Amino acid sequence: MQSMPPALARLPELARDLWWSWNPTARDLFRGLDPIAWQATRHNPIRILNELSPEDLVEAARHQDTMIRYREAVEGLDRAVAGTGTWWAAANPDLAAKRIAFFSAEYGLHNSLPIYAGGLGILAGDIAKEASDLGVPLVAIGFMYSQGYFHQRVNVEGRQEEVYRQIDRERIAVAPALDREGNPVRLQLSLPNRTLHVAGWHVRCGHTQIYLLDTNLEENAPWDRELTGRLYGGDQTTRLLQEIVLGIGGVRLLRAVGETPDAYHGNEGHTALMMLERVREAMAEGMNFDDAVAAVRSTTIFTTHTPVPAGHDSFPFPLVEEHLSLLEGYADTIMDGVRARLMALAAHDESWGHGFNMTVLAIRLARQVNGVSARHGEVSREMWSHLWPDTPPEAVPIQSITNGVHVPTWISGDMDGLFREHLGEDWLARHDDPELWPALDNVPDAALWVTRLRMKRDLLRYIQERARHRWAEDHVDPGQAIAFGALLAPDVFTIGFARRFATYKRAGLIFRDPERLRRILYHARRPVQLVFAGKAHPADEAGKSMLQSVYRAARDPMFAGRIAILEDYDMHAAHWLVQGVDLWLNNPRAPLEACGTSGMKAGINGVPSLSISDGWWAEGHAEGNGWIFGAADPMGSDHAAQDERDAEELYALLENTIVPLYYARDPSGIPTSWLRVVRRSIQTVTPAFSARRMMKEYVSKLYREALGASAPAPPPARF
Ligand SMILES: *Cc1c(COP(=O)(O)O)cnc(C)c1O
Repeated sequence: MQSMPPALARLPELARDLWWSWNPTARDLFRGLDPIAWQATRHNPIRILNELSPEDLVEAARHQDTMIRYREAVEGLDRAVAGTGTWWAAANPDLAAKRIAFFSAEYGLHNSLPIYAGGLGILAGDIAKEASDLGVPLVAIGFMYSQGYFHQRVNVEGRQEEVYRQIDRERIAVAPALDREGNPVRLQLSLPNRTLHVAGWHVRCGHTQIYLLDTNLEENAPWDRELTGRLYGGDQTTRLLQEIVLGIGGVRLLRAVGETPDAYHGNEGHTALMMLERVREAMAEGMNFDDAVAAVRSTTIFTTHTPVPAGHDSFPFPLVEEHLSLLEGYADTIMDGVRARLMALAAHDESWGHGFNMTVLAIRLARQVNGVSARHGEVSREMWSHLWPDTPPEAVPIQSITNGVHVPTWISGDMDGLFREHLGEDWLARHDDPELWPALDNVPDAALWVTRLRMKRDLLRYIQERARHRWAEDHVDPGQAIAFGALLAPDVFTIGFARRFATYKRAGLIFRDPERLRRILYHARRPVQLVFAGKAHPADEAGKSMLQSVYRAARDPMFAGRIAILEDYDMHAAHWLVQGVDLWLNNPRAPLEACGTSGMKAGINGVPSLSISDGWWAEGHAEGNGWIFGAADPMGSDHAAQDERDAEELYALLENTIVPLYYARDPSGIPTSWLRVVRRSIQTVTPAFSARRMMKEYVSKLYREALGASAPAPPPARF
């Protein structure tokens, strides 16, 4: 990186702490340095600084606005890192010196650090950021993938192509993790026939420190280097090895950097071996197995995300034994004396197939378990009730804390501006306070409408520039350019549908009656357009065919160019989409959506949801803030009947209610009734479905107890 003029000496430090990414002054600072590079680098300040010449920087330091922003940003960063004057400090004075470790296989922090695949990772990233804002003393553990998740291309036939790119560590905000002596961390794990070497990386995220594990080292065999290559690739052995690196390596990495957290939070079953490693540590210090389990249990929180049995990792017992027995410290503690009892900890109901189940292990080693929405809590209590044979399902001790989204990350710059003007400059500091939001009624309709229109215009510009790029660079055929959104129009009611292309999400539902859909889209006075985005898992052929049928519709003249696919859905595309469309459509097959967060991101930006009664919307929908459809009790296995009924409701809502409401205008052209829904959406969704509300709930319901503040734990799952 450049040598900086003294007046801007701390710019590189700002660029290397992801705190900049959700703080408007720091964003304005980097954007202002070079607006073109800001766009071209997809908002990557490290690359911007690399590309500026020394003269550019000297010039920037002469610019008064730049210097004001710079000083404000540096002060903000210092305050965030110190964590003084925060909610945590005020609300939990008894826990001042405590630390909490958070484990997750992925983190969606910023598109420049592509170490996430989807919702689970975005949630983990939002937790890390909100913990920083609130001053919650969190240290997070994950993977430094060398390639991350794939980039998606949709070819001329509509087939998904997966492109993997090496992540360039020189251009992202990571640095080697250092041990207590200041040397780069290196761990060794003994595995069958070899030693696996593991390095650590450090990501700064304001008050939150994130450490990432990496096996892509020359000392390792090629196949071992690839263990941390991609998200969720590989066979069973690869996945088990990844979980050993994350869980066991993760705890050892914490020790190496000098962290001794007081409580541990596992995000999904991939993190379960973190709990086992702590049992081993306790036994190595002289505890017997039962006491070690009890000690780990008393300080562990586990969050489950998957409402279907097949979604939980389960490994053959011999495979687990083979790998654990060689790890240092395991033979003489766990594997010799209590092997059978350890295996029993991760075993359960035969009807699920026999195996070492990571979720079962985590449930039994956690003091508190939670699902991620009220509905998902119910589903999880039912699903795991066999672990508590003496307890009726409704009394199973699995609670729920509904997910939320990090508001500073997901709010659009335009909305932020409007809120500053009408709710106060400090609205972000108070955004989870329900008392703040009635004041939104004072925003004039005209101002709200202009803001919404600007957000849609920016989205369409983004989509069409990408289509233009594909047309100009790759010479895609005209039909493809139309499928990528070339014919979208800024004055047309726009529906967004973006999420993983998995069959249960039913991207095809709205195509069930093509003629009827055509009449909705190609309406002379009240036209509608649809924007789709999402990746299918590389191994999911059904998901890929679903994407292909959407693509075929998008290029079919029948739909008049009013359907578009935005390729390569990631956080950058998600920002534009959730902010820019008019309506957010979500129609999974209930009850398979554990929570869903993209509808929340849309909601805070004044984009109401039209959603099945499932996940967060079952509790988030309120009179006048959007639309709900589909029965709360799904029709068993008769999928065709369920689809038929849900599609009929969907069409009817669009035709009779939603589209007419959007196009009903007052004499000055403003859709006053529509804007009432927009307002209700912002007012109801922002405080209740913010990551701030969620984090405060994690602290008060789970972390405080796990950190030793007094409160009784629920009865343990029997084993
Ligand atoms: C928010 C988000 C998701 C998760 O969305 P769901 O509604 O939970 O499916 C997935 N991918 C990206 C890029 C996101 O921003």
